[in-house]
Amino acid sequence: MSRRIGLYLHIPFCRSKCLYCDFPSYPGQEAQMEAVIGRMTEELWAWGKRLPDARVETVYLGGGTPSLLPPTLLERLLSAARDAFLIAPDAEISMEMNPGTITERLLQTAVRSGVNRVSIGAQSAQDRLLKLLGRIHDFAAVKRAVEQCRRAGIDNLNLDMMLGLPTQTLMDVEETLERLIALSPKQISCYGLIVEDGTRLKRLLDDGVLQLPDEDLERDMYELARSVLENAGYAQYEISNFAKPGFSCRHNVDCWQRKEYLGVGVAACGFLGTTRYRNPVTIPAYLAGEAPEITELTAEDERFESIMLGLRMTEGISDAEFCKRHGLSIRQAFGDKLDGPLQNGLLTFDEGVLRLTRRGMDVQNAVLVDLM
Ligand code: SF4
Repeated sequence: MSRRIGLYLHIPFCRSKCLYCDFPSYPGQEAQMEAVIGRMTEELWAWGKRLPDARVETVYLGGGTPSLLPPTLLERLLSAARDAFLIAPDAEISMEMNPGTITERLLQTAVRSGVNRVSIGAQSAQDRLLKLLGRIHDFAAVKRAVEQCRRAGIDNLNLDMMLGLPTQTLMDVEETLERLIALSPKQISCYGLIVEDGTRLKRLLDDGVLQLPDEDLERDMYELARSVLENAGYAQYEISNFAKPGFSCRHNVDCWQRKEYLGVGVAACGFLGTTRYRNPVTIPAYLAGEAPEITELTAEDERFESIMLGLRMTEGISDAEFCKRHGLSIRQAFGDKLDGPLQNGLLTFDEGVLRLTRRGMDVQNAVLVDLM
């Protein structure tokens, strides 16, 4: 029997660094593209030899900015993936694209290479907020990107937007939602801004140059997004993700369900059996062939991961599935740690399914702390 896996390909290049970004993405490194794709090709072949029975169900090209790749390198990478693995005929093959970097030629190559889903980093419909974030595009570029994808034959589109931005108002959020919905994507993802150490955003906040919306306003933005999206026919399937029926991102759902996936490229993470690994995070270290960082999960780690990842999804965690996987029921594994969040209305445990309530989704981290 074949081993079903996902494949994540990390493209670590960006045109410039956004204000809030601490992802492994490096501007000004275009000269390294050929070498990085060459090394990724070798990595793919090595994995293919190690897992000869693997069948790839989903491929996700993330970054960074995968749409910065020259078409020839994109083609080389995806054809190396096909040489290394059996890719299911109905595989979901997603590619992140940054508006302002998309060309007709790249899209044609992507489609020819099997890409059938595109995720566009729209982030906001207000050009002033895009500028403030250091994004390289305006909203007109988002609309153009959607049209370009459709012309190339890709209609399975996700649009990302961000909440909780400095100077962002509820009206901004409402207008962004309306303008994204008007573009009729299959999925919209709403991410709350996270302030990471070492970013320019952190320094500007620490220096008092920028301020974030307060917690109540941020919660109101999230609630507004949920209700506008649900009214428009986008069902929430995960804390940040809303999709038309049948269009949830299969790759991400598989990750949250702890299915196996390989990560290939700079800083890419993978999960096989009871092992998680992360490739070297800098381009020079990756090209030098430094070893990945490996974490062996204990049985307790695995149980906690199942809860931590499973609770992100609105369908929750089936006790029967949990028991099949871990040999213990959720109650046996977590005992009275469940009582606080259940009594406080943050979790429900009905008909053998553990779920966060709507309120619990707002404070997921606090619930997880209780369960740790
Ligand atoms: S485009 Fe994405 S990965 Fe690149 S710098 Fe901006 S946020 Fe980071």
